[in-house]
Amino acid sequence: MGTLKLPGLIDAHVHLREPGGEHKEDITSGSAAALAGGVVLVLDMPNTYPPIVDAGTLALKRRLAEEKAVCDIGFFVGATETNPAEAAGLAWQAAGLKIYLDQTYGPLRMHNLAALLAHFCTWPADRPIAVHAEGLSAAMAIGLARIYGRRLHLCHVSRANEIALIRAAKESGAAVTCEVTPHHLLLTEADAERLGPYGGMKPPLAAEADRAALWANLDVVDCIATDHAPHTRAEKEGATPPPGVPGLETMLPLLLTAVADRRLTLERLVQLTHYAPLRIFGLPEPAECWVEVDPDARHTLGSAGLLTRCGWTPFEGMPVVGKVRRVVLRGQTVFEGQVRVQPGFGRVVVPARHEG
Ligand SMILES: [Zn+2]
Repeated sequence: MGTLKLPGLIDAHVHLREPGGEHKEDITSGSAAALAGGVVLVLDMPNTYPPIVDAGTLALKRRLAEEKAVCDIGFFVGATETNPAEAAGLAWQAAGLKIYLDQTYGPLRMHNLAALLAHFCTWPADRPIAVHAEGLSAAMAIGLARIYGRRLHLCHVSRANEIALIRAAKESGAAVTCEVTPHHLLLTEADAERLGPYGGMKPPLAAEADRAALWANLDVVDCIATDHAPHTRAEKEGATPPPGVPGLETMLPLLLTAVADRRLTLERLVQLTHYAPLRIFGLPEPAECWVEVDPDARHTLGSAGLLTRCGWTPFEGMPVVGKVRRVVLRGQTVFEGQVRVQPGFGRVVVPARHEG
């Protein structure tokens, strides 16, 4: 086969670490990694320092992105115990609300029932609430979405019983969507043992039966997102390694390899990485945008040449087929061997508002 042309990928879950974590990644390095991976639009999570939880911090983030991004970028607003009204007021400037119901990296875990209910009551019913919700928390979040008539998006689903729950929720008519990550689709707790701190993330890598269940229930999965969460090697090798792994540059070759292995169709890949995230978050289609890949290029994933500042990958040594050759956005070549546009080319993306 010659060159394969795909719609630019949309990654609904990344941590570009700015502000506050620029030694791990900043908006320029993270958005460059996105383009290298064929990703033209990323939705960035709010657990930065400071966290993005009000008009002032969202404006700061927006200003940084407008100066520094090379791909397009949208933002989540983080839920805190005191910001339900203010967060709801920002709903049309954000991809969604993010609520952390379980242990994660950063300052935003929600512990307070009254605040949680206030968010579900106050956040606009036609905008998604994205949750980090594992196990029992997933059931609680689905129940709240059902009670309050809110749209729920479950991030990085990783376990067999969670995907079974989501299937049942969808069958019952709940407005629930979900994402899975390449690392939960392709790695297990056996890899976590082999990788040591480089295999540590939240939710953790699971059992082979969990991994198999994600594939077996791929019809229930709405989108694939990286949860790109870089940390430096020094941090990973320190006494208390923080959870998270990078993923922007490896998602597309890994998924193209799954296509080559006939575990996924190309059509489904495009649904999972382009149309579904745009639909879930109500975002406009990127203009004049595509990715050219060589679907037959065999190579081995590794740290050499990565554009993410952290400079490593949990998929080190994994053979893949399929390589990004060129990325076009707004009719302009934004990546071909290297990033071809200046910081500031990327635009801040907000939901498309349907009047009436
Ligand atoms: Zn995350």
